[in-house]
Amino acid sequence: MRKKVLVLGSNFGGLTAALAVKHELHGDVDVTVVSTSDRFLFNPSLIWLPFGKRRPEDISFPVAPTFEGHGIEFIHAGATAIDPDRRTVTVAAGGPAGTTHRYDYLVIATGYRNRLDVVPGLADNAVTITTLPDAIKAGEAWQRFLHDPGPVVVAATQGAGCFGAAYEFLFNISHQLRKAGIKKRVKLTYVSAEPFLGHFGIGGLPHGESLLKMFLRKENIDAHLGGPIDHVASDAVVLGDGTEIPFSYAMIVPPFAGQEVVARTGTLSDDKGYVPVRDTYQSRKYDDVYAVGVAAAVDVPWQTPTPVGIPKTGFPTEVMAHTAAANIVAQIRGAEPAHTKAFGDIKAVCVMDAGNNGVIILADKMLPPRKHGVLIPGPQAHLMKLGFEKYFLWKARHGYVTLP
Ligand SMILES: Cc1cc2nc3c(=O)[nH]c(=O)nc-3n(C[C@H](O)[C@H](O)[C@H](O)COP(=O)(O)OP(=O)(O)OC[C@H]3O[C@@H](n4cnc5c(N)ncnc54)[C@H](O)[C@@H]3O)c2cc1C
Repeated sequence: MRKKVLVLGSNFGGLTAALAVKHELHGDVDVTVVSTSDRFLFNPSLIWLPFGKRRPEDISFPVAPTFEGHGIEFIHAGATAIDPDRRTVTVAAGGPAGTTHRYDYLVIATGYRNRLDVVPGLADNAVTITTLPDAIKAGEAWQRFLHDPGPVVVAATQGAGCFGAAYEFLFNISHQLRKAGIKKRVKLTYVSAEPFLGHFGIGGLPHGESLLKMFLRKENIDAHLGGPIDHVASDAVVLGDGTEIPFSYAMIVPPFAGQEVVARTGTLSDDKGYVPVRDTYQSRKYDDVYAVGVAAAVDVPWQTPTPVGIPKTGFPTEVMAHTAAANIVAQIRGAEPAHTKAFGDIKAVCVMDAGNNGVIILADKMLPPRKHGVLIPGPQAHLMKLGFEKYFLWKARHGYVTLP
C-alpha cells in the first residue's frame, strides 16, 4: 500500500514539504495538501502593499495548478481537528460535519495568526500588515492619512517576533513621506519591545545597533525601546511607563500564535498553539507528525525585560520543510529519520528593505553563539529584495523546490 502524506498549509512550509516529498518518491507516495488559502502569498512583500507598490495578485498565485502539475491532490479547506492517536484530520469540506482524512505522515505548516488582543485598543485604533486583509486595510488607512497627515508610529509589541517587517515598514514609510513631500512635517516614531535597536528577535548582529541608530538618525526617527505598550488609544500609543505618543497613523506588529486547530490538539501543542519539535521536525510526542515553519515551536534562548519572540522567517521555514521531507522519505523507505537541523543552527539570510535602500543580513547561525554575522547596507539590498521576490514567486509557482 502506498503511504499517504497529508500536509496542512500551502505557503512557504507546506508547499515546500509537499513538493519535496513528491519529488523524491514520485508515484510511490500519495501526497495531499489541505489549506485554507488557495493562493500562495509572498508575505515579505506585504510591506509594499499599503503604498500601492504591489497589488495582491502581484505577490500571490493559485496553488492548485502547481500541486496538480506535480501529482499532488489539493483540497481548499481548513483543517478543523487533528487526532494524532487515530492518525486522522477532519477537514471543513464535503458537508456540515466535514470529511475525515487518514494519514501515515502528517506535516503541520499552518503558520501563524495575529494576537491583537495582547494590547487593548490595538485592533480598533491601529493597523497591521501581517496578513493580506490587514495589509489591504493598512493601505486604505494610508490613503486617508495622506489627505490629512499627522504623526506616525510604527511599533512591534511585547512578544512580537516579526521585527524585520516593522523596520522595513518604518523605513518604507519614511521613503513614502519624502516622496509625498511631507517628510519634514510628519513626526515618525519607532516603538519596540527589543532591548536595543537591531536586536531583530535574534539577539542582534555585530554593528547592527550602530547601523540602525545611524539609519534612524538620518531619517529623523525617534525610538522607544525595551518596554511594553500599555494600550492604543484612538490617537496615541500609550507605553507601559505612561509615555503617550500621538499618531494619525499607527502600524503595529503583534505577537503571533499557532492556528486554533493546533492549539486545540493538547497532545501536540504548546500554550501558544505551536508544535514542540525535535531537530528532525518530528513532534516531540509523535514520530509520524511533523511541524515546520511558524507552526513549529522554537525555544527563545534569552530573557529580555520585555518578552520578544523569534522571527521564523522564510529561509529557515524552507530548511525545516526540506528536513522534514527528507525524514518522511526515510521513514517511508524503512530507514531512521536521521536528518537534523536545529533552528538555531540554520543560516540567517535576510534582506531588510528601506524603500530605495536596505540592509542585507547574513549570519552562519540564526541564534548565537555565532562565528560570523554581517549587515551590508546600501541600495543593492533594495534591488536584491525586488529580484528575490520575482525569483521566489517563479520558483514556488513552478514547484522547483530543489532550487536554492
Ligand atoms: C509582513 C511580513 C514580512 C515578512 N518578511 C519576510 C522577509 O523579508 N523575509 C523572510 O524570510 N520572511 C519574512 N516574513 C516571514 C515569512 O512570511 C514566514 O516565514 C512564512 O510565511 C512562514 O511560512 P509558513 O508556511 O510557516 O506559514 P504561513 O506563511 O503563515 O502559511 C500558513 C499556511 O497554512 C494555511 N492554514 C492556516 N490555517 C489552516 C488550517 N486550519 N488548515 C489548513 N491550512 C491552514 C494558510 O492558508 C497558509 O497557506 C515576513 C512575514 C510577514 C508577516
